[in-house]
Amino acid sequence: MPGVIVFAEQRSTLLELTGEGRKLADWLGATLTAVTSDSAQEAALDAIAHGADEAVVLQLPAGQPLETAAAEFAALCADADLVLFGATLRAKGLAARAAARLGAPLAAEALALRPQAGGALEVDRMVYGGGGIATQLLRTRPMMVTIPARTFPVPAASPRSGEVRVIAVAADARVRVVAQRPRTQQGTDIAEAPAVVGVGRGVAKSEDLALAEALAGAMGGAVGCTRPVAEDLGWLPEDRYIGISGRKVAPRVYVAVGTSGQVQHVSGVRDAKVVVAINKDENAPIFKHADYGLVADLYTALPALTAELKKLLG
Ligand SMILES: Cc1cc2nc3c(=O)[nH]c(=O)nc-3n(C[C@H](O)[C@H](O)[C@H](O)COP(=O)(O)OP(=O)(O)OC[C@H]3O[C@@H](n4cnc5c(N)ncnc54)[C@H](O)[C@@H]3O)c2cc1C
Repeated sequence: MPGVIVFAEQRSTLLELTGEGRKLADWLGATLTAVTSDSAQEAALDAIAHGADEAVVLQLPAGQPLETAAAEFAALCADADLVLFGATLRAKGLAARAAARLGAPLAAEALALRPQAGGALEVDRMVYGGGGIATQLLRTRPMMVTIPARTFPVPAASPRSGEVRVIAVAADARVRVVAQRPRTQQGTDIAEAPAVVGVGRGVAKSEDLALAEALAGAMGGAVGCTRPVAEDLGWLPEDRYIGISGRKVAPRVYVAVGTSGQVQHVSGVRDAKVVVAINKDENAPIFKHADYGLVADLYTALPALTAELKKLLG
């Protein structure tokens, strides 16, 4: 059975994990198996081209959630050294169930993996709501780790061949999916946008979000927000709030507008290339996380910045 297994339901995450999994499999002198569910079946062949030795598709019975595959997935992992999961909600559920069945160690939401002597794996994880990084050592096999999307780059493809196996998952009569609705997306996805303007409670009324929209528009970007703006005020959909319990973004520029800069929020913008903060309080913690800071009232700063950018970028 395989030494390293990677699992993800999305093609891009599967390929990212395949790249990292390949390195770890080579370190262990072991094979790499890429596993996906039937919703991303076509990704199985891509995973082989991107470094997997073989691929497995978990064929779920109609109307059954991913967790139903826990028994089959745990059986697949029983002799593995290491299993990496793309940290989506559903895959995290599968990881927890598989780890519980096997009594395996599971490190959730890892930021970095470092192979150690003797085949152990050192893992960095964010803890205390993003306030610290814990380094943990996994030794017992199979070592299991969930990893957020976009942690690793997608490796280059090369002509490779490998077997694609299909494992039919047995139905679980206790669980049934009764409906599925696609999440409605308004505007550009903040996780994909090259620039994000993140608004906080410094914005006084929902109509004033137009100021942030105008700045984001001038930068070809999207508007995100802090949790209270989405959850308490309901001014923006929940898929727009950024942070430890919200979305992670990695734009080229993140402009924090009227956000205090609490750790739970800024942990979601760690991967932004440049952070610009606009806050009228010069002691606001956001300035500690910013590359550029502007102590100003957002109501004067945003229109001025937007006008300048429009002049510059046309
Ligand atoms: C378990 C847990 C998880 C959490 N997860 C998240 C998360 O994922 N994401 C998240 O965002 N939060 C999260 N929070 C909430 C987080 O702790 C903060 O409360 C929140 O981020 C603060 O939002 P804010 O910056 O919009 O508001 P505030 O903290 O109220 O800051 C508003 C800022 O606006 C400035 N301001 C006011 N008026 C103006 C003006 N006219 N011009 C310029 N600046 C102005 C003020 O100086 C202030 O700094 C979480 C909290 C907990 C307990």
